[in-house]
Amino acid sequence: MSKIVVVGAVAGGATVASQIRRLDKESEIIVFEKDRDMSFANCALPYYIGNVVTSRDLVLEATPEQFYDSKQITVKPYHEVTAVDTAENKVIVYDKKAEQSYTVEYDKLVLSPGCSANHLNLNSPIAFTLRNMEDTDAIYQFIEHHQVQNALVIGAGYISLEILDNLYERNIQPMLIHRSEHINKLMDSDMNEPIIEEMDRRGIPYRLNEEVVKVEGNEVHFKSGAVKTFDLIIEGVGVKPNSAFLQSSSIHLDEHGYIPVNNKFETNIPNVYALGDIITSHYRHVDLPAHVPLAWGAHRAASIIAEQLAGNKKILFKGYLGSNIVKFFDYTFASVGVSPSELTHFNYKMVEVYQNDHAGYYPNNHKLHLRVYFDSNTRQILRAAAVGKSGVDKRIDVLSMAMMHQSTIDDLTDFEVAYAPPYSRPKDIINMIGYKARNL
Ligand SMILES: Cc1cc2nc3c(=O)[nH]c(=O)nc-3n(C[C@H](O)[C@H](O)[C@H](O)COP(=O)(O)OP(=O)(O)OC[C@H]3O[C@@H](n4cnc5c(N)ncnc54)[C@H](O)[C@@H]3O)c2cc1C
Repeated sequence: MSKIVVVGAVAGGATVASQIRRLDKESEIIVFEKDRDMSFANCALPYYIGNVVTSRDLVLEATPEQFYDSKQITVKPYHEVTAVDTAENKVIVYDKKAEQSYTVEYDKLVLSPGCSANHLNLNSPIAFTLRNMEDTDAIYQFIEHHQVQNALVIGAGYISLEILDNLYERNIQPMLIHRSEHINKLMDSDMNEPIIEEMDRRGIPYRLNEEVVKVEGNEVHFKSGAVKTFDLIIEGVGVKPNSAFLQSSSIHLDEHGYIPVNNKFETNIPNVYALGDIITSHYRHVDLPAHVPLAWGAHRAASIIAEQLAGNKKILFKGYLGSNIVKFFDYTFASVGVSPSELTHFNYKMVEVYQNDHAGYYPNNHKLHLRVYFDSNTRQILRAAAVGKSGVDKRIDVLSMAMMHQSTIDDLTDFEVAYAPPYSRPKDIINMIGYKARNL
């Protein structure tokens, strides 16, 4: 029987602990969590704030008591791992309630500490960030108790977009600012045009190349000189890795503070594994490093680490494809593959098609825009991006599967679509990409 210590009790940490227990009924598993809650659904938080997800219980998936009862895994909230001694196989844990530190030995250590939200240090009681359940409760209660009518959303990454959409759903008038023109960086910038259109259509103000200089009471002073009054501010201005506690250890961090891992999710130190937003790994379809801080990777890693610890050494991580998706009002934006900026590593060509999502004569038809990048020499697909009101997720997921198998752009003509008028066309937009690429 060995002792397995896990750092972090949310997406990666709680999942890896469960997966290990699934295969190993004997070992002692203890999970340390520096904050209040374990195992909540981060991805649900904007939708809970918007009252789209109506029950808080659905967001908070487990308590330490439930986890112990069902899995015999000990989870310790308000216990922060402050240092790791890899020579002695032990961690230093600070018990926030008892205000004292103690040492815990491990046989295996699994790190899933994730990232923290960056703050603009606005020093204002109306300004919040959104990373966990405590943030969510604070925002939710603030909205309930302060008759919030309008809100400023700072930043235009996918979480900011989701929050803006959900605040609007809750009848709060939002405004968006972003410090550059490049919103929703996971997409090709010109494919983000519907984001602006969706805001215009609803009379939602936005300003690009804008920043907050200071907040006085409810007055927000902008770099442009404008001054406006808001009831609530949500800062969505990026994240930083929670790896400060590893800096005194021998665990290797890259120049940004992330942990490089191999295809077993091992760090440079034997018996120390890492997963989730804290790691950097590699792409599956091309030979480039990849940092994909999204939920799928945490769950895939949790399963592979558990298999590794159980001795199933042949189950290895084959890499990321970088699939991502976001809903913004009536539109969906999704992409898979290397990021737009990483395309510069390749000699590539691009092909794009605008086509009805399903048969033109069938109701509720919407234009779909699909763009695929491929290597000029090998014709292998490097990246795909899609925007539209419906059918976006299907096309990106199909292309993700194609890229998983190193498909070329020409293979897309062979994609056999499940066709009936409400769903697609006999020559699906994916086929059309393949046909159009024949001329390139
Ligand atoms: C609002 C929001 C919406 C999201 N939506 C999506 C989505 O739609 N799709 C998607 O794919 N991804 C989404 N994500 C991202 C996804 O939630 C993350 O990729 C995933 O949670 C990463 O898991 P993790 O375990 O690495 O980090 P987390 O889930 O953040 O968990 C890390 C935990 O470790 C704890 N911790 C840190 N340091 C220590 C320490 N020293 N000692 C003890 N505990 C520590 C932290 O307090 C934290 O609770 C969203 C994230 C947020 C915040």
